[in-house]
Amino acid sequence: MQERIITLATPVFFALIALEIAWGVRRGRNTYRLDDAINSIGLGVLSQVSGVFVRVLRIGLYAGVFDAVAPWRLPADSAWVWLFALLFYDLCYYWHHRLGHERQILWAAHVVHHQSEDYNLSTALRQTSSGALLGWVFYLPMAFAGIPPEVFAVVALVDLLYQYWIHTQHIGRLGWFDRVFASPSNHRAHHAVNARYLDRNYGGILIVWDRLFGTFVEEDDADPPVYGTRAPLRSWNPLWANVEVYSSMLHDMVHARRWRDRLRVLVAPTGWRPDDVRDDAPRQSFSLGRPRYAPQATRSARTYALVQFAFVLAAAVYFLQWQERAPLFESLAWFAWIALALTTLGWMLEGRRIGALLETARCAGTGLALLAVQAWPGFARGMPGSTGSLEVLAAAALASAACAAWIAWRSFAAWRDEMRGAAHGASTPLGRSASARVEPR
Ligand SMILES: [Zn+2]
Ligand SMILES: [Zn+2]
Repeated sequence: MQERIITLATPVFFALIALEIAWGVRRGRNTYRLDDAINSIGLGVLSQVSGVFVRVLRIGLYAGVFDAVAPWRLPADSAWVWLFALLFYDLCYYWHHRLGHERQILWAAHVVHHQSEDYNLSTALRQTSSGALLGWVFYLPMAFAGIPPEVFAVVALVDLLYQYWIHTQHIGRLGWFDRVFASPSNHRAHHAVNARYLDRNYGGILIVWDRLFGTFVEEDDADPPVYGTRAPLRSWNPLWANVEVYSSMLHDMVHARRWRDRLRVLVAPTGWRPDDVRDDAPRQSFSLGRPRYAPQATRSARTYALVQFAFVLAAAVYFLQWQERAPLFESLAWFAWIALALTTLGWMLEGRRIGALLETARCAGTGLALLAVQAWPGFARGMPGSTGSLEVLAAAALASAACAAWIAWRSFAAWRDEMRGAAHGASTPLGRSASARVEPR
């Protein structure tokens, strides 16, 4: 059900993003960059699509615990029960979110929401794909209080959807509202890496929890928020975004010499590292004035990525509407295709030549597969309309492959010219057709 409501809300999300872009451009303060927005929304897509496989964690476990332990069943037809459930959820969310920042095993999941160095409505859609693995634990007190699973599922969604509108720089301070509810101002502070804002303002709907538990801070105009994380991602690859912190934890566990330290990596506060590993492989120090990540892909690569991203988005929405009837292997195929597409598009936006090559292979493979599966009714069953529309999709995929091949060819030609120019002292990093430009904030 959650996927259906999120996909129904998708047109509203995009209408508001269009409005925010138009407003920003008109006021001369556009807060969007194409590659960052594609990366953020792509991470939201990946989160929804991967969520299909962990439904049992998100709602199944709650329902099971509720059946086993709930001393009573609060009536779902009472407005008070809904209000109580929403407040209770928001309190559990506060602690889930707070520990999501304070403990690195939970930060490894939540970090995805914070990696963007921009702050706009697309940042709200930037969600983790691994949050369900441990997140369910935080909401079990609601089952013990007798809140039925169907009420739990709806208030969880309300809490999530509420947080959409607070991800904007175009709404300023709102007076008393900023001290009672989560708002654009206090949530901007939550996303900031400035020392004064770090690990503050965890509230989902109510910011009152932060004032109660001592984590509230007001936005200070003299210290404007700088967005992102203190260890920047510097990548448009959505798969890497999801495993970034897990990977560095694994590195530390493998390289630590003491077993006690290896286990401690799992439960330690965020940023903790074994002494020996920290000495051998120190991390870059943090600087507030660091440039934003801004690789320069060519205009044709960016236009191509935008068009393909629209296709992938449509495919993901279609899959989410239909997935409940899909056999597991078909769902896995959809997930793999969407994850691959988002990754190759991310590489193209990073200006990597390998991105355009893989994109050519992906689109050609998709076109050929669509032509082939007409003979495979099990797969074609889920596709819209007749087999005729499969042929149209196949033609679109093959045309996309031709475009991607042209972009790949151009980027290799440009690289060849650069290599010739290298004789005169210029050089480029291996595997990239463009280096990251230094961009002031
Ligand atoms: Zn957070
Ligand atoms: Zn946020």
